[in-house]
Amino acid sequence: MSNKTLLTNLDIVTLDKNETIQQNASIMIEDGLITKIFDSNNLENKKNSIDCTGKIAMPGLVNAHCHSPMNMVRGWAEDLPFVEWLEAIWVAESGITPDDVYWAASLAAAEMIKSGTIAYNDKYFYMNKIADVVKESGMKAALTWTVFGMGENTEVGEGLHETIDWIKSLEDHPNIKTYIGPHSPYLCPENFIRQCINIALELKKGLHLHVAETQEQVHQSIERYNLRPVQHLDSLGAFDLPDSTVAAHTLHVDQRDLQILAQKNVLIPHCPITYMKLAMPFPSLQKSLDADIQICLGTDGPGSNSDMDMFAVIRQTALVHKHLSNDPTILSGDTLLRMATKTGSKTIGMQNHGTIKVGAPADLILINMDAPHLKPTHNLVANIINCVKGSDVSDTMVNGKWLMRNRVLQTLDEEKILYEANKRSLNVVNRGKKQLRHYTH
Ligand SMILES: [Zn+2]
Repeated sequence: MSNKTLLTNLDIVTLDKNETIQQNASIMIEDGLITKIFDSNNLENKKNSIDCTGKIAMPGLVNAHCHSPMNMVRGWAEDLPFVEWLEAIWVAESGITPDDVYWAASLAAAEMIKSGTIAYNDKYFYMNKIADVVKESGMKAALTWTVFGMGENTEVGEGLHETIDWIKSLEDHPNIKTYIGPHSPYLCPENFIRQCINIALELKKGLHLHVAETQEQVHQSIERYNLRPVQHLDSLGAFDLPDSTVAAHTLHVDQRDLQILAQKNVLIPHCPITYMKLAMPFPSLQKSLDADIQICLGTDGPGSNSDMDMFAVIRQTALVHKHLSNDPTILSGDTLLRMATKTGSKTIGMQNHGTIKVGAPADLILINMDAPHLKPTHNLVANIINCVKGSDVSDTMVNGKWLMRNRVLQTLDEEKILYEANKRSLNVVNRGKKQLRHYTH
């Protein structure tokens, strides 16, 4: 017997090429796929249907770059200059155990499902524990085990070769993709990046790393290699791999960098809340958009962004780039929503995501629009960009399976996760407190 769900009486933000919004529509879902979309007035048999009056459906959001277990340090390093912030985070992280990562990643998965995210691109340590969370939660994910290549004594977490067996163990998982994960060209020695590239070629993978976050990193790269970070990575072959490469942030680029990024289809997650909170200068996205760079959106870690609400990222992206470019016409609603769905889904290796249409996987969210901050509806997409918050999402579905129904998680035990994650995070930070240096300003 096939597994059927019929949603009725909802408006659909399809995100198709024509930006179609279908009003008072019904969606039939069978065995994980959308099999029919039709006018609810033509509904013949209401039996077993779910009435969604007052709600809209749209493709689920994709968080294209995060370090999900960093919710352990949420609120722990506030209002600090970048170097002191980084030290506080690293001191706290130095005592983290694999089980701490499991519970923190579970907390992040709960937060993401409850704010409309159906898939995420995660880069951290003890990724085997995060893979367990992805399987239990029913979400989709790309996972990267971060490696530094700084030598045994200074290495954090596992070495590159220890992570290969883990990568191979996930080879056939339908909802999990993996990357090879050097931290960045500024922390990793050149030889180590070459090793990562060779392994990516052998395993038919791409890389997921941090690139050109600050002007200082660009200057350092020119000093060391006589090349800017993007051109240095390109000269090593980092963008000519069997799978796509994800170059998180890549904020400081020149015209030649943009050409390379466009030609080689590099995916660039953009995380503006982190940049603003840590007061990192960054330019307008205008040139990258003009060059057709594949820009997607992410939260980055909750140590810098504070939460994992992708609706907040969408809104802040619009606001800051209209402001930086002094142009209120850039980044229209559908462009922003595509960055947070279709383009982001490329980092996860998802096929056919980003449009509500027949034949696509039922990876969608429902949003309750009957709320004071969401009326009137002159422009539905504008209301989504500017007014919807993660907590307005009522239901989250992946592959036709409910991960949340009417704000209640269906696959994860929220009460237990809140208790364990909170208790463990306080312990992690207390261990770190004893080692923290004190600065005088
Ligand atoms: Zn990051």
